[in-house]
Amino acid sequence: MFKFAFCFFSAFSMASPALLMRVVASAYSVAEKAATIVRNVMSAGDLGIVEKAGPNDLQTKADRLVQMSICASLARKFPKVTIIGEEELPNGDVSEDLIEVGHCEEILKKPCPTQYTGIKEEELVIWVDPLDGTKEYTPGLLDHVTVLIGIAYGGKAIAGVINQPYYNYEAGANAVLGRTIWGVLGMGAFGFQLTEAPAGKHIVVTTRSHSSALVNECITALNPDHVIRVGGAGNKIIQLIEGKASAYVFASPGCKKWDTCAPEAILHAVGGKITDIRGNSFQYNKEVKHMNSAGVLATLRNYDYYASRIPNTVKESLVP
Ligand code: AMP
Ligand code: MG
Ligand code: MG
Repeated sequence: MFKFAFCFFSAFSMASPALLMRVVASAYSVAEKAATIVRNVMSAGDLGIVEKAGPNDLQTKADRLVQMSICASLARKFPKVTIIGEEELPNGDVSEDLIEVGHCEEILKKPCPTQYTGIKEEELVIWVDPLDGTKEYTPGLLDHVTVLIGIAYGGKAIAGVINQPYYNYEAGANAVLGRTIWGVLGMGAFGFQLTEAPAGKHIVVTTRSHSSALVNECITALNPDHVIRVGGAGNKIIQLIEGKASAYVFASPGCKKWDTCAPEAILHAVGGKITDIRGNSFQYNKEVKHMNSAGVLATLRNYDYYASRIPNTVKESLVP
């Protein structure tokens, strides 16, 4: 009798993975389709560039198509989830060829952390940056680009998917391009090799195209051994978890919730920390202000070292 009950229970639980795992498994496949769109738009050559707030705030055909693809695909499967995408697009039917119906079986096989097993659709908020690093995508700095799908519950980033459409581009014409990194708090992050930054060195990664006097003043105060200037919030978090940089420092408004949600979930899943420059954590409930007005400070290790060296003058210049 006990045996029967056990078998029944395990068969039942295999047939119905927790909602969070179904969302992450779908987001994984949706992000892979997004990456194909990003590559196809670039190889077709017509980027359809539109300036949003100005020349440093661009939107391309890839940003538009990918947002439609991600939001429509996830909304069809999870109609009660709140989905917030970066791009303001007219409402309308999304072409069927943009819809991804698949999911990653491997993710579905993993057990959901117990604290998240009871989550309901209406309690999730998904933050979508269809193409992070557009300013780098347009001149062809393709390895800076990522697709970001962040999943929040109770105002916290709890899971995320980062796709890098041009990962492996240096390996030559026949190389398979792209990879998908994903993670869930309490479970870990997958799709890359967690690597520590060189011990005893302070390597800061920051913006390439959105610098300011304050951004530079803050970096100078940290007295780093080396500064890496690359595009994309997703790209910079990858630099942290792969040991290329020891801190992501951006003392400026400009970065938004869709830039930080997926990266935050993945960084926190491997024991890192991300806050604004003043040390406040980010909130991801659907009512929250989109702009991360007080900048970004993120590390895999030694967060306190960097946080303690941010000058008060810099902190006071940034209002959350
Ligand atoms: P970056 O490190 O410059 O690539 O910025 C990370 C993310 O924040 C990207 O999505 C940028 O588009 C966005 N961002 C940062 N600063 C600005 C800004 N001044 N205007 C518009 N977007 C910005
Ligand atoms: Mg972005
Ligand atoms: Mg974007």
